[in-house]
Amino acid sequence: MKRRDFLKKAGIGAASAAAAAAGVAGLVGCAKEEEKKVEKAVEKAPAVVAKKTYKWKMVTTWPPKLPVLQEGCERLAKRVNEMSDGRLTIDVFAGGELVPPLESFQAVSDGTVEAGSGASYYWAGKEPATQWFAAVPFGMNAQGMAAWFHGGDGLKLWEETYAPFNLIPRPGGSTGVQMGGWFNKRINTIDDYKGLKMRIPGLGGKVVAKAGGTVVLLPGGEIFTSLERGVIDATEWVGPLHDLRMGFYQAAKYYYYPGWHEPGTYLEYFFNKTAYEGLPRDLQHILDAACMELEQWALTQFDAQNGAALQTLINEHKVEVVKFPDEVLDALRVMALEVVQEEAAKSPMAKKVSESFANFQKVVGTWGSVSEAAYYNFIQPKLSLKG
Ligand code: CA
Repeated sequence: MKRRDFLKKAGIGAASAAAAAAGVAGLVGCAKEEEKKVEKAVEKAPAVVAKKTYKWKMVTTWPPKLPVLQEGCERLAKRVNEMSDGRLTIDVFAGGELVPPLESFQAVSDGTVEAGSGASYYWAGKEPATQWFAAVPFGMNAQGMAAWFHGGDGLKLWEETYAPFNLIPRPGGSTGVQMGGWFNKRINTIDDYKGLKMRIPGLGGKVVAKAGGTVVLLPGGEIFTSLERGVIDATEWVGPLHDLRMGFYQAAKYYYYPGWHEPGTYLEYFFNKTAYEGLPRDLQHILDAACMELEQWALTQFDAQNGAALQTLINEHKVEVVKFPDEVLDALRVMALEVVQEEAAKSPMAKKVSESFANFQKVVGTWGSVSEAAYYNFIQPKLSLKG
């Protein structure tokens, strides 16, 4: 390296630079002395500029190794580590490893840990408004939700909803439209829901109950056996990728679509507000950028892998994929509107969020019906692998 460059890069003071420049002019001995001083300054420099590192913990609501969901949290931690050159590290704990899955919201709110991940409808008991940021029956799909968060006031309202809990939320990506579920009885009319025993949580479950069904709550590990033994007649889960892993095709005859109850379920990251605000600005930006990267990543994984898994279910396992009749969807939608109104009336925040959501869905959905939907409806039947 040339002396001039060396001096410049070492970032030494003007006085030393001037003295060294004099050395260049001919006072070779003097210059060597200066160079030694500079080298010493360079040796010391890293200690002076070394930046503080932050070690965080993240608790999730997901089982260990759950594809895309838990996988995404681990990927987020990896990306934040890479982008920050190790200045912000996040140790990720699956549900139950550090705190029970459904206590992660409280643990991050209390500051026991700095970060969490789940789906915001799990926290309906804390504040009913949280449900609109995850999934609303007959609500927006993934594209509409993303537009509401980043192009409308969805994320602003989400932040407002989480602020009283000292939390900062970030959208974590969407599952896309889920599947309607696995049924051992055909659903030909809305009356077929009467007496139907179904595992379906959240607002969708409230709609099924309105239709006369019996909603059964079961932990993930008990669903397959309950379906197989006839304890339940039907269950929903996620989509082909996760449903295939659960083996439901061995226990139910019909695989219904579309998942009207979860048309674009959004996942979330959330951070303790004090911890987040305690980060230097650049690390806050890195965290936000990594969340947006993962938001995009999650939907691409669901779409790509659900597509492949659906082919496996149809071609290898000969699953009968059935669409809910339009009359059934119409009837369910009327009940869903009632359920959504009842939830919206539960808190001022829920009312505010519900109105924003409904208004946004009308506008963005009208655009979607002449763009994405119209194009898909035209082209896809010509390419379909379903035969
Ligand atoms: Ca589901």
